[in-house]
Amino acid sequence: MSDERVLRITGLRARVAETEILRGIDLEIRPGEVHAIMGPNGSGKSTLSHVLMGRPGYEVTGGSVTLDGVDLLELAPWERAQAGLFLCLQHPTEVPGVSLEALLTEAARAGGRDPDTVRQALITEAGRLGIDEHFLDRPLNVDLSGGEKKRNEALQLGVLGARYAVLDEIDSGLDVDALATVARRIQEATEEDGLGVLAITHFARLLEVLEPDRIHVLSRGSIQVTGGPELAEQLEAEGYVGVLGDAATDEPETLVGLPHAAGFGDDPFA
Ligand code: ADP
Ligand code: MG
Repeated sequence: MSDERVLRITGLRARVAETEILRGIDLEIRPGEVHAIMGPNGSGKSTLSHVLMGRPGYEVTGGSVTLDGVDLLELAPWERAQAGLFLCLQHPTEVPGVSLEALLTEAARAGGRDPDTVRQALITEAGRLGIDEHFLDRPLNVDLSGGEKKRNEALQLGVLGARYAVLDEIDSGLDVDALATVARRIQEATEEDGLGVLAITHFARLLEVLEPDRIHVLSRGSIQVTGGPELAEQLEAEGYVGVLGDAATDEPETLVGLPHAAGFGDDPFA
């Protein structure tokens, strides 16, 4: 274990249902940094998030993932959470009979933190996210709208105080005002607490508030292009086909060595 603070993904390959979906992912996210992942439907974005969190059914076939020096792939999902990883699910699960407060109280207890502080932290966090307090006592995600579930995920992130967050389309389902509030809250967490963020999204709108250091375009299970914030606007204007060409479609057998960062020679981070 080293003292270096970084979420480091190296050569990550993974299979689900006999198909190799991730074919070599390399990413480094440092505290306070925001990395966005964009990419066509079915390119493996959610698969990456599940593999990072350790969802059963996803078989890692190569590579490594370390969080501040800890080998994540060796750990159970709950241990990854305790190590400081948070996943905001694309489709949050409804858990009848378990309130948000009960969930977070147990998480605090399991993580060796004072469970008596959870209620106040929840109320503070709900205020920052514009969430009405009566949501706090309802069963987790049950009968909430898509946008309310996403705000709930952001609320959990704020209370749990993770070190790195993977946000799988946190913007989907949020109305424009809620999107701005949630994005601002997460941006503040990067600045105040040094939260490192991997934000999966299709839309530049999220990234107007949650300011990305880098944008990566995933296709065919690997990162094809990396650039600065301007890449999101280019994608919005030209689409994945405009930016990736043939590699925008999922036809691995025709995968040729796409010129890495073709047209992005002026990447300010290169
Ligand atoms: P994205 O989030 O980029 O839209 P996903 O990671 O959800 O894409 O999916 C990548 C590919 O893996 C898709 O072809 C999808 O159908 C397939 N896939 C994902 N999860 C499973 C699963 N549990 N069983 C079978 N195929 C899956
Ligand atoms: Mg997805």
